[in-house]
Amino acid sequence: MKETIRKFVRDFVKEKDKGGIIKDIWREPLVGFGDARHPRMGELKTWVQSDHVLPSEVLPEAQTIITYFLPMQKTIGDSNIPGRLSSKEWAMAYEKTNATLGELGSALSQFLKEQGYPSIVPAEATQYDERILMSKWSQRHLAWLCGLGTFGINNMFITAAGTCGRLGSTLTALELEVDGPLEEEYCLYKIDGSCGLCIDRCPVQALTTTAYDRFKCNDLCADNAKVHVGYGSSYLLEDTGSEVLGTNTCGKCVVGVPCTYRRPKTKQ
Ligand code: SF4
Ligand code: SF4
Repeated sequence: MKETIRKFVRDFVKEKDKGGIIKDIWREPLVGFGDARHPRMGELKTWVQSDHVLPSEVLPEAQTIITYFLPMQKTIGDSNIPGRLSSKEWAMAYEKTNATLGELGSALSQFLKEQGYPSIVPAEATQYDERILMSKWSQRHLAWLCGLGTFGINNMFITAAGTCGRLGSTLTALELEVDGPLEEEYCLYKIDGSCGLCIDRCPVQALTTTAYDRFKCNDLCADNAKVHVGYGSSYLLEDTGSEVLGTNTCGKCVVGVPCTYRRPKTKQ
């Protein structure tokens, strides 16, 4: 069944990549499976924020978290290296990726329900607390539990296909063998203190080796959203009926660095 789900994700994304506001934007998606009842799950309320919801609060019979990562093509990532604001290609790809993740989550959830397993994309996955600039459903922390990768010091998530892409997730009552969390570390700075290049990439100095200023980051994302308008990524989550509006982000710290398209290699 894991291979069936991986194929479902691959086929869905391949089809979506053929048209729309921009095409040919993704490499092959990664899919990871995690324990929705993992003993460390409760730590999300202290690790991320106190309002973070747990899988069991969204779907009481949840057994497995399925996370998927849609990695961007080099043409998209490299287009975003120069300048203070995002490239047009990056902004369009980002908006289309968000919309596709919503559609993919709903389609996968529907597919699993048809197989007899209650499944859902949590509404909290698309809700954002504007006061603290945090979500109640951290895709990155759940992806870590699913073994998809580890955290970089740029506050981004490093997978085997790099950081240049977006994450989504679906919860299901289907019990599957899990893939994570990983024991190893992917970020070079965290491994041996080397690299740190993402810090210099940030145009507004929102990053240090130990901290991430989400308010500075948000200000630059707001500047981007004023420029990159009209890419039309608003969509409805079928499970919940909640509307998700397109957003934009700068993404300068995930491009032009060793972890952009792959797990970075240490010098040894
Ligand atoms: S650019 Fe280097 S230091 Fe920054 S997240 Fe990637 S590997 Fe880690
Ligand atoms: S997304 Fe942009 S503003 Fe935010 S930390 Fe990365 S480089 Fe800085």
